[in-house]
Amino acid sequence: MSSEVNPHCLLAEFVGDSRIAYFSMEIALENAIHTYSGGLGCLAGDTLRAAADMGLPLVGVTLVSRLGYLRQEIDAMGRQVEHPDPWAPEEHATALSALVAVRLEDREVWVRGWLYVVQGQGGGRAPVVLLDTDLPQNNPDDRAITNVLYGYGQAYRLKQEAVLGIGGVRLLRALGFSIRRYHLNEGHSALLTIELLLQFGRAAVHLRPDEPRYDAPRVRKMCNFTTHTPVEAGHDKFDYSFAARILDEDIDVPLLRRYAGDKDLNMTRLALEMSDYVNGVARSHAVVSNAMFPGHEVHAITNGVHPLNWTAPEFVALYNQWLPGWCHEPEILGRADRIDDQRILSAHHACRLRLLELVRSRTGTALDPSVPIIGFARRMTGYKRPELLFSSIERLRSIARQSPFQIVLAGKAHPQDLGGKQTIESLHRSIEALRGDVPVVFIPNYDMDVAREMVAGSDVWLNTPLPPLEASGTSGMKAAFNGVPQLSVLDGWWVEGWIEGVTGWVIESEPGDNGDGAAASLYRKLEESILPLWHVGAGKSAQWASVMKGAICRNAAYFQSQRMMRRYATEVYLR
Ligand SMILES: *Cc1c(COP(=O)(O)O)cnc(C)c1O
Repeated sequence: MSSEVNPHCLLAEFVGDSRIAYFSMEIALENAIHTYSGGLGCLAGDTLRAAADMGLPLVGVTLVSRLGYLRQEIDAMGRQVEHPDPWAPEEHATALSALVAVRLEDREVWVRGWLYVVQGQGGGRAPVVLLDTDLPQNNPDDRAITNVLYGYGQAYRLKQEAVLGIGGVRLLRALGFSIRRYHLNEGHSALLTIELLLQFGRAAVHLRPDEPRYDAPRVRKMCNFTTHTPVEAGHDKFDYSFAARILDEDIDVPLLRRYAGDKDLNMTRLALEMSDYVNGVARSHAVVSNAMFPGHEVHAITNGVHPLNWTAPEFVALYNQWLPGWCHEPEILGRADRIDDQRILSAHHACRLRLLELVRSRTGTALDPSVPIIGFARRMTGYKRPELLFSSIERLRSIARQSPFQIVLAGKAHPQDLGGKQTIESLHRSIEALRGDVPVVFIPNYDMDVAREMVAGSDVWLNTPLPPLEASGTSGMKAAFNGVPQLSVLDGWWVEGWIEGVTGWVIESEPGDNGDGAAASLYRKLEESILPLWHVGAGKSAQWASVMKGAICRNAAYFQSQRMMRRYATEVYLR
């Protein structure tokens, strides 16, 4: 692609109609574009893919993250080693010539954009603007602002959020976009609401002294906020005097304090105050959020995943043959029980073999194609409880003596999450402890490609978060598209998706359980229900096929991005 193109030609197809600007700190566009770290980015990517499929007029805005999030290696001691994970924007996107400036630390920081176009099925297209400060006119520190996704330090984070929120609004305008609504995917972009306040305030030139300078109701009518964080500590906060040192003097502390909380600059609070519609990402998450944010009504729009992005080629072929139209209208998958059992089972077997090949090439371990696989891949962080499965090595050994199984793991820890990094080491100790009895492998560098193989090739997808901390979770939905049932704690989307023995199984635990109860239930389910059922016909019985079909009919048919986007369109964007 050429290095610089006149934005007016390139953007002509996108700037004619007014659009919904979808702001997200991370968006997973393709595996080779390292602008994502995990679930939030995957959801944002699936949102734009569905918008393109459905012809919804969105424009995505995110950071270019030239050095990515991190590339993970595991050393001989089982420790995570982090490397930069660069990618080349010029190989995937087109540079736009418009420039805008954001004032940070009393300097102009210039921002430009790269255009990436998401191609939908049926010809729809959704533009995404990737914000970039790596320009010769910026000083070296400022050039690095858009380099590392979730890079370290409060100052770096606040500058990234200013470039995203303030720079993003300014650049869209400079490029000629007409924006009718701003969708804030998580609070990182909340400063965009302040930029809108200032824009509208400056336009009001004929103010009487008693008229407010800022038109907050007008901004609210244009903004909606999707929250993803069910714990107060997870929300971005900055000290006001610190923020005042970094941000433009136009954005003064009294103005921020009015909308972003009295104590600190709280991005979640700002997004809540300035949005006319707020939603959580599953019904149970909306309940938790309503309790956390008294005075705000938090609706529920349960997440969904993009059908074609997460369905393995074998299942795409099956669905195309038996249920044409399923990609556009995934509700049709509710008829998947008419598909021949043998076809489902052999499609899954092919997926399992591909996962074994990936395991062999990435870890050097040959797993057994005739033994069921428990798959677990998450961000490695405390509340996801990756170690729960390994609470009792002895118990795992004894279950495996009756009903053999093997385990495939993956997941990155944020470099500053020391607990998450220790978890990775502890998982590797468990791998050693189980050697000879239960084969366990850890695939390094979890990303979308690894996720696709794992959610399709595993026989059971395991999910063990500490309730109520999983806002939604989406990997179990991806598994459902490939007929893989989930074994999960009752939290996030599983509260809506679980039908015992039909779509998967529940791990029971009482409130206040320190993990022992959940672990005991997890082992009981494996030992008494799941593994014996699988072993009846070596994973080829009608009973096992029936659970696979249950996951497809009941869950893939519902937990999909087209349904999610129809809800955003009718209840938020076009209200
Ligand atoms: C889907 C996905 C996630 C999120 O999965 P959860 O179930 O929400 O934990 C994280 N990382 C990658 C690479 C994914 O594909």
